[in-house]
Amino acid sequence: MSVIESGLAISQHTDSYYAATANNSKDRPALEGEHRTDVCVIGGGYTGLSAAYHLAQKGYKVILLEAEKVAWGASGRNGGHVGTGQRKGQDELEKMLGMERAKMLWDYSLEAVKTVEDLIVDNNIDCDLKRGNLHVASKPSHVEWMKEDIQHMRDQYGYEKLHFVEKEEVNQMLGSSQYHAGQLDEGCLHLHPLNYAQGLADAAEAAGVTIYENSRVKSYDDGEPCKIVTEKGTVTADFLVLGCNGYLGKLESKMAGKIMPINNFVLATEPLGEDLAREIIRDDVSISDTLFVINYWKLSGDNRLIFGGGENYTSNFPNDLKQFVRKYMLRVYPQLQNTTIDYAWGGTLAITLNRMPHFGRLQPNQFYAQGYSGHGVPTATMAGKLLAEAVSGTAERFDVMAKVPTYGFPGGTLLRWPGLVAGMLYYGLMDKL
Ligand SMILES: Cc1cc2nc3c(=O)[nH]c(=O)nc-3n(C[C@H](O)[C@H](O)[C@H](O)COP(=O)(O)OP(=O)(O)OC[C@H]3O[C@@H](n4cnc5c(N)ncnc54)[C@H](O)[C@@H]3O)c2cc1C
Repeated sequence: MSVIESGLAISQHTDSYYAATANNSKDRPALEGEHRTDVCVIGGGYTGLSAAYHLAQKGYKVILLEAEKVAWGASGRNGGHVGTGQRKGQDELEKMLGMERAKMLWDYSLEAVKTVEDLIVDNNIDCDLKRGNLHVASKPSHVEWMKEDIQHMRDQYGYEKLHFVEKEEVNQMLGSSQYHAGQLDEGCLHLHPLNYAQGLADAAEAAGVTIYENSRVKSYDDGEPCKIVTEKGTVTADFLVLGCNGYLGKLESKMAGKIMPINNFVLATEPLGEDLAREIIRDDVSISDTLFVINYWKLSGDNRLIFGGGENYTSNFPNDLKQFVRKYMLRVYPQLQNTTIDYAWGGTLAITLNRMPHFGRLQPNQFYAQGYSGHGVPTATMAGKLLAEAVSGTAERFDVMAKVPTYGFPGGTLLRWPGLVAGMLYYGLMDKL
């Protein structure tokens, strides 16, 4: 599968464990004919779905246009980790933005996790929701930073849910001796990402949103109202919201130069059985390591290991995805040498140069959010909430995010790849040293 993964008459989800265990495989019609609405949302991932849901809650008439299927993109393929904080650490945010704004972003991140949980509870979304993330130190030099970070988060933010875990205890928790310590964050969640997204789509529809699938937006103008055009239909809308993230393609050149689409890969083993599952993840938390190209893993609802590892920066995925991700898994768990890999898949996410999300306006009535840099389950859900606030005329919190500096990739949309690939390969190499 590739970034340019479309063209089917009726789009299907990528072949993943999530698609195989989806609560439903509802197909929705394509847009045909002329339509009028208050808000048109482009993109049926967490950004678009959350924006549509929150807008409908505020009484807006909303049409959401998805090029493929709801959650066909990263929102239906990711690791399912719902982390606190932004993708960048608070210490770095303090240097970048000052203490007051860094604290605002920390508070938004806690609200993001809470919003995910509230959406799931309020709408009875069945998505294997569980609690806790263990962040493990891949190098001895990361241990001291972890201790300082915990103290800093207590002293400056009053955050008490982050605990230091000694090496021996990490070994016990993971059945792996290669990590040097860990940070257990009791404020994080993890879930089945596709079922969360589909539940959000159902909740949005129940709130009055109309969703069209197989409805790729080809163009829109900058009028008030603006006209949005798909192959078979048009929507005239007072407001436009864009949530296309890593799949934006050439739709909007003003946004494309600020993000870089990159591919990341995940596998699902066969069910491990209760004993082996408890041996490798004793407390059923999610786990992520401190490498630049992060490994992340968790157990599924039926005790499979869901392991994410490896990236590439081309328009194609590796040929043998099971083998590609398995080598990362075996570095952590050599005891799974004989475990069958039932599924492996990839997805495309958008990163920004400084790993902070990119929010903004194209016109006074056109808003977007993108570039969550691998932290989008909570952040894109929160982005949808803030986009809805901005459309409804309460843009203070949206503007806090929109004012976080973002930078264009050197070389713009045409030449950004060579620099990025060189940089990523350099840091990937550093991981190995
Ligand atoms: C393999 C992988 C693992 C990840 N793991 C995690 C994780 O564990 N935790 C975490 O927080 N984040 C993770 N992420 C990132 C997270 O999944 C994303 O940040 C998040 O899903 C972005 O949501 P979104 O709605 O903005 O974009 P997407 O979910 O990608 O949705 C964008 C949608 O826009 C549609 N679209 C694009 N162009 C058009 C058009 N012209 N017309 C209509 N529709 C269009 C696409 O078809 C797509 O469905 C991971 C990402 C990947 C790929």
